[in-house]
Amino acid sequence: MFRILKVDAGAKTLVEEELNSAYREYGGRGLIAKIMLAEVNPACDPLGAENKLIICTGLLAGTSVPMAHRLSVGGKSPLTGGIKEANVGGTAATALSRHGIKMIVLEGLPKSEEWHFVRVARDGSAELVAADEYAGLNNYQLHGKLKERYGDDISVISIGTAGERQYKNSTLQVTDASSGHPSRAAARGGLGAVMGSKKIKAIVIEKSEARQAFPYADKDLFEKAKKALVQRTLDNPLSHGLMEVGTAATTNVSGVTGMLPVRNFSGTFFDKLDSVSAEAFMQRLQVGGGRNKEGCQAGCIIKCSNTINDAEGNYITSGFEYETIALCGPNCDIGDFDAIARIDRLCDDFGIDTMETGCTIAVCMEAGKIPWGDSEAAIGLIREMMEGTEFGMLLGQGTEAAGKALGVSRIPTVKGQSMAAYDPRNLKGTGLTYATSPMGADHTAGLTLLPGVDHASKTAQVAISSQLQAISAVADCVMCLFGWFTAATAPEITPDLFAGALGGEWTFLRVYGIGAETIMMEKAFNTAAGFTADSDRLPGFFYTDRSAVTGSTFDFSPEEIAQVLNF
Ligand code: SF4
Repeated sequence: MFRILKVDAGAKTLVEEELNSAYREYGGRGLIAKIMLAEVNPACDPLGAENKLIICTGLLAGTSVPMAHRLSVGGKSPLTGGIKEANVGGTAATALSRHGIKMIVLEGLPKSEEWHFVRVARDGSAELVAADEYAGLNNYQLHGKLKERYGDDISVISIGTAGERQYKNSTLQVTDASSGHPSRAAARGGLGAVMGSKKIKAIVIEKSEARQAFPYADKDLFEKAKKALVQRTLDNPLSHGLMEVGTAATTNVSGVTGMLPVRNFSGTFFDKLDSVSAEAFMQRLQVGGGRNKEGCQAGCIIKCSNTINDAEGNYITSGFEYETIALCGPNCDIGDFDAIARIDRLCDDFGIDTMETGCTIAVCMEAGKIPWGDSEAAIGLIREMMEGTEFGMLLGQGTEAAGKALGVSRIPTVKGQSMAAYDPRNLKGTGLTYATSPMGADHTAGLTLLPGVDHASKTAQVAISSQLQAISAVADCVMCLFGWFTAATAPEITPDLFAGALGGEWTFLRVYGIGAETIMMEKAFNTAAGFTADSDRLPGFFYTDRSAVTGSTFDFSPEEIAQVLNF
């Protein structure tokens, strides 16, 4: 029932295939890992002809499970040199699954300078369309022009000019369900550059005339399990914080525990914490009719998203998240929501990762290129990237490249990718995730922010990181992580959900095994790409420089780190 669209960027052809039955029980990140390991040379140039960009829906896409329509984007990362999966909300996965499309795979390398986009029409037919007139546009203008041409109900996956220039911090942006703007980002690992290398500017998915039916193995069993899962999700206290405020609420916890990165992961306390608290966020949200409790995709029941307006009610940005707030805010000594929201908008428009950008700006501040806390100067650095000045081109290669060129000793990266917004000295399990995940320093690969755990202590963190990485990998194959946290703690519900949808015997262990298998495939790819045990290390300063908040360092030995993901 599911189909794959394969685009050969060299031959300028688009062919359609049926999904190989061997892939039937794979989706999202797991399916990407399976294909990358089978079909892509791990030693290839990420921006060369051998690499593929795989855009893939999740295992339960097309079903009525809430939040099952995340979109995974994968390939070999130009930033890390390893396998990468960046996943994103928005409307695209729903639109693809309505057409019965599991994956779009971009292959090869064009021999000319011409740009194209992929169009999936209302009747399900697909074509490559000449797109030179759209080259040079950033995402907001591009999405506007594509809507003028094809109607307001399209979903778009696109790159801005950062992706066109093959910046290693570049993203793919996806239409947000609530705002309709390209504010949802497959942000990490520079996959926008891979799309840019193939000169595919966008994928335009028109709303299907008829919804492709999902081939449930046992619809009654599925519906019963889904109903129970919905109720459990609504009752879960973790869901409530996300529902009431969104991820921005995290600052209240991270700010007082030393997890919040401040002044380029200096380990200090943020003296303007009140200005970025959950309460300050909710106050700022009211300005100009801003809103929270919005869903980035249809059918979301948690709705952690938001829209931020200016005082006149003009839209600034949407999907304004903790990671962006923390890394472009306190990590740069900036405590001004307006400035951070404008940075978020610029990043989404240009098509760069807000996390990589926040860390890059902070290493520039550390080097004295601009003053700490100077938001206008920070925005000036993003504008340099947009204008393509010599320094801007350097910054577009990411935090590690910028930090090394500027002679900064404190560069918070693992496997070439900047850290997310948790200091690993005070959230040690996540430090282990940063070190060992095949994804590089990625919080969604295994965020260990569990209640009742002393996060500045080493106790049990190896097991916690391993389990959370496996659980998070399942989420990346199936649904939004915020929904999966409930499913992952419901062993009496989740196996029935899978059995009802896919058929066969499902146990909780088998579900969990999806994550472990995915990570093992990714590690095999990275090993073949040249990664070794020494790649699984945090930068030296986390081992030597104590957190001023707790006195803690990241104090795991190589032998202890080697125990993580030892399934
Ligand atoms: S919980 Fe948040 S990120 Fe997840 S699908 Fe809903 S709005 Fe999107």
